[in-house]
Amino acid sequence: GVRDGLGAYIAKPETYTPDVVVYHNDDFVAIHDMFPKSSLHLLLLPCDQTKTRMHPFDAFEDAEFLEKVKTETRTLRKLAAGELRRKYGKDSAQEQTRQAALSADPPPDELPQGRDWEQDIVVGVHAVPSMNHLHVHVLSVDRYSERLKHRKHYNSFSTPFFVPIEDFPLAEDDVRRNPTKEGYLKRDFTCWRCGREFGNRFAELKQHLEQEFKEWKKL
Ligand code: 5GP
Ligand code: ZN
Repeated sequence: GVRDGLGAYIAKPETYTPDVVVYHNDDFVAIHDMFPKSSLHLLLLPCDQTKTRMHPFDAFEDAEFLEKVKTETRTLRKLAAGELRRKYGKDSAQEQTRQAALSADPPPDELPQGRDWEQDIVVGVHAVPSMNHLHVHVLSVDRYSERLKHRKHYNSFSTPFFVPIEDFPLAEDDVRRNPTKEGYLKRDFTCWRCGREFGNRFAELKQHLEQEFKEWKKL
C-alpha cells in the first residue's frame, strides 16, 4: 500500500537519479522527501532488514543500531548544511572558489567558515510515523514549503511530536511515548523562530513563515 512507498528506495537505490536518492551505502539510503515540509527535506532510511519495519522508538532501543544511525545522521546533517550554504550562503560562489583553490593540502580550520548552517538543520523522527519503513527526517528549520498544506504538517515538525535523534534512547516514562494523549498535532501554532502564537489561524501562520524564511536565509 501507499504506506510502504519508502521500501522501493531501500530495495533498489541504484535505480534513482541523484535528485531523488542523495547517496546510498551498504547500511543506509538518503533520499529527498517527495513532499518536502521545508526548503530542504531529506530522509535517512536504514537498510537493516530486522529494523526497517519497526517503530523508531523500538528500533532505537538497540544501542549499537542507534549509534550507527546517529553517526550517519551527522554525515547527512553536514551534507544538508553544505546544500544550504550553496543555496543561501553569502558570496557562496567566492567561498567555493577559495575552498577549491586551497583543497590541495589546506588546514581547513583556518578557512573562514562563515555561518554554521548545521545549526539550521533538524534531525529526528515522528512519534507516530505515517510511513512504514524506518526513516529519520533531516530538514532545514524553516518549515517553508508549498507542500506544507495542513495544520498537522506544521505541528508534526514543531511540537514534541517531532523527537530529535539526540534525545534517544528515550526514558521509559517520557511523555512523548503518548503523543495522542498529549494532543501535539492539535496544539495552537507557535512560530518556530520568534515564538509568536497564531492560535489555529493556519493562513496567517503560512504568511508569517514566508517572512521568517526570507529573514532566516539572509542572516
Ligand atoms: P512520517 O510522517 O512517516 O514520519 O514521514 C514520512 C515522510 O515520507 C513524509 O514527509 C512524506 O512526505 C514522505 N513520503 C511519503 N511518500 C513518499 C515517497 O513515495 N517518496 C518519498 N521520497 N517521500 C515520501
Ligand atoms: Zn516568527
